[in-house]
Amino acid sequence: PLDPVLAAGRESKIKVAMIGLCGCWGCTLSFLDMDERLLVLLDKVTLHRSSLSDIKRITERCAIGFIEGGVANEENIETLEHYRENCDVLISVGACAVWGGVPAMRNVFELKDCLSEVYIDSATSVPGAKPVVPFHPDIPRITDKVYPCHEVVKMDYFIPGCPPDADAIFKVLDDLVNGRPFDLPSSINQYD
Ligand code: SF4
Repeated sequence: PLDPVLAAGRESKIKVAMIGLCGCWGCTLSFLDMDERLLVLLDKVTLHRSSLSDIKRITERCAIGFIEGGVANEENIETLEHYRENCDVLISVGACAVWGGVPAMRNVFELKDCLSEVYIDSATSVPGAKPVVPFHPDIPRITDKVYPCHEVVKMDYFIPGCPPDADAIFKVLDDLVNGRPFDLPSSINQYD
């Protein structure tokens, strides 16, 4: 069991949860790129869930939820709705969460054509093998399009970029845990 003093300290901290939906985890690497600044934040923050552990359910209410990746299947929808229900503030982190990103390139095609291209007409199909589109009750059903998070649930804030700079993630987190309003200056949020 956790030391009572450590447990009490943890209880008084601001709980933060992160999860990755349909993305590449590059935004999580930007989170880690905060480097030693993360250690300073950990005086005030406890990470209840991290994209690195990929645990999709929250067991304690969290003040802040970071969502990486867009919505591309039914499990993503369930996970995002669960985070919305269990986080006071929900933030879209990165282009995939904000507008769908690279996975949304499939939106210009019909889903059946995408599946066909990948599983039936693929250049890497094994010659002679029977082409089949995987189907199993345990495999989440793919949505017709890739959706940005705010088209599924209400999102409170957005941190653009692919991935966002660690400075941008730090600025947002530092502001929120210190009670300052969300303020993302263009100096750390401009890519041209
Ligand atoms: Fe990866 Fe870019 Fe999407 Fe982040 S925004 S998950 S870095 S593709």
